[in-house]
Amino acid sequence: MLRINPESGFFEGARQVLSPNCDDRPLECEPELIIVHGISLPPGEFGGPWIDQFFTNRLDAGAHPYFREIADSRVSTHLLIERAGAIVQYVPVHKRAWHAGDSRYCDRDCCNDFSIGIELEGTDTLAYTDAQYEALCRVVHALRAAFASLAGAPVVGHSDVAPGRKTDPGPAFDWDRFRRQLAASEVSA
Ligand SMILES: [Zn+2]
Repeated sequence: MLRINPESGFFEGARQVLSPNCDDRPLECEPELIIVHGISLPPGEFGGPWIDQFFTNRLDAGAHPYFREIADSRVSTHLLIERAGAIVQYVPVHKRAWHAGDSRYCDRDCCNDFSIGIELEGTDTLAYTDAQYEALCRVVHALRAAFASLAGAPVVGHSDVAPGRKTDPGPAFDWDRFRRQLAASEVSA
């Protein structure tokens, strides 16, 4: 089973790339929501050092025209699940990662305060990989096991909390499949 070190807030076995784009959650604010995102840099391309650079404010604006638009963004995520299912962690889970932006869930604004952000390397329109669904299920089970506040936590898309502004993880993410797989993997996680 995938584990989270309760002291450090890091997943055991995840590659760590520490992002400065995080801070403390508001007082007495626990994570209660899991938000799934999709990202690829440049858009539609996988692999490469760009996502690590982006989340650590080191993206080379000259390396691709698109990078000029986003190089000054100060954003992060707790986790990235790469195409082959490898997990990268940028922010410890007890910290507030800056992933959701202007957002709202069930009449609560500022979803970063009370959520965990998980990026899947991908696009809105290209199927995510089997390895990513598998890793995502393991991550969700690990989070729910580690935090009482996440025990029954809903898993939603970025597009659900920022409709009209964000579309990720997009129609390519198969929610039915994910929910089936999550339920089926509950015992073996
Ligand atoms: Zn997103």
